[in-house]
Amino acid sequence: MDQNKQAAIAAIDAKADLIAKVSDAIWDYAELSLMEEKSADQYCEALQKEGFQVERGICKIATAFSASFGSGRPVIGILAEYDALSGLSQKPGSLEREELVLGGCGHGCGHNMLGAGAMAAALGVKAYLEKTKTSGTVILYGCPGEEGGAAKAFMARDGLWKTLDAAITWHPGDANEVATGSSNSCIQTQYTFRGIASHAAGSPDKGRSALDGVELMNIGVQFLREHMSSKARIHYAITDAGGRSPNVVQPKASVLYMVRSNRVAEAVELQKRVDDIAQGAALMTGTTFEKKFIDGLADTIPNHTLEAVLYENFQALGVPAYTAEEHAFADALAKTYPSADALPGQGAKNDPAVAEKVKALREKCGHAMNEFLMPLYQGEAFTPGSTDVGDVSWLTPTVQIHVAAFPNGAPGHSWQNVSIGRTSIAHKAVVHAGKVMAAATIDLLEKPELLARAREEFEKATAEGYTCPTPKDAVPVVPD
Ligand SMILES: [Zn+2]
Ligand SMILES: [Zn+2]
Repeated sequence: MDQNKQAAIAAIDAKADLIAKVSDAIWDYAELSLMEEKSADQYCEALQKEGFQVERGICKIATAFSASFGSGRPVIGILAEYDALSGLSQKPGSLEREELVLGGCGHGCGHNMLGAGAMAAALGVKAYLEKTKTSGTVILYGCPGEEGGAAKAFMARDGLWKTLDAAITWHPGDANEVATGSSNSCIQTQYTFRGIASHAAGSPDKGRSALDGVELMNIGVQFLREHMSSKARIHYAITDAGGRSPNVVQPKASVLYMVRSNRVAEAVELQKRVDDIAQGAALMTGTTFEKKFIDGLADTIPNHTLEAVLYENFQALGVPAYTAEEHAFADALAKTYPSADALPGQGAKNDPAVAEKVKALREKCGHAMNEFLMPLYQGEAFTPGSTDVGDVSWLTPTVQIHVAAFPNGAPGHSWQNVSIGRTSIAHKAVVHAGKVMAAATIDLLEKPELLARAREEFEKATAEGYTCPTPKDAVPVVPD
């Protein structure tokens, strides 16, 4: 690793206390999607103090921001998230389920770390740009609502990501790896039916049931499932059944739908058929309905060129190392869930040869924290879940890494993840993620041929063009 890169890494180490403090503060705030006011403030203030040019409320989203440093091209975006999940309040560093705030929220997806690690990367790149006076800009993007609201997709609709030469992000995980593969596209829509209330026995002929509208819509979608791609998925939840009185004809009822398909263009087409079914249900029941767009996420386009750059830097920097005490805590935490023996990583799931290698690495490690780097895997990999990083990846070459922050096999969105998210293990993950992303960014700034190759691969992979799932006039909202 050359001197300039080493200096950037040293700059991150010098800020390790600040980075950990921010990660812990965001953990404490545990704010839900699109309500991350204190969290966004924390980042904006810290970055302003560090000399970044901060713009708040970008793309008309109150808790979104950008913080940039440097000038000219290339422009590299680093993506931060900071939203928590409801019902997951948990005492930190605990080995059992103990709520910190009754009914409170918690960082079960580790987004407190995600944002802080992204900030760490930006601080490292800033130090490099300052020292070398190289042409280039690093922009940290504060992206709210990953768990609902999907700010990155709204930013994609507004064309923001098109201005970047590349985007880099990470997610805390149970292994150290460069992520690859595709994810499902997902469109979320709330349908609210309105009818006429009346006495269900005395004057049923006067009533028009909104609940009937919801039920017939669900039945219509049930029949649709036979005639759609077997890879597509449609989920729903009745969020308002109209009340608790069977003897009242329900005047209002709501259902929340999620339409998923591997490619975003297919999801948009399937969504239209679901809309038609809602219309049919309203016609059948003499009700009306309103449609509220919640969010739309595209599938993810991998970029193998960028993956290789991240991998090379991951190899050079190694992985976080743990003390005996940290290992003991994570080993004990891993005993609280059933999936602790699963093989980690996308490669192990998709390629038996990789699975063999990962198995050997796990056995050699012997601990719940995976203290090794996963082999670089660039084969087929498909995650049925969805992320708004997908929308970024349709507009600029994009890459993601995972850094071990949770013990092996830890379930997503769990109290275990909240518990470990405010410990020294989490702090190590955050700082390390920052270093790998900063070192890779420096390569992209120094070697234009890498960005050119990444761009060429990106143009081929996205030749059909981005079908934006977010309507022109939609604004980020949470379901009622
Ligand atoms: Zn999540
Ligand atoms: Zn997440």
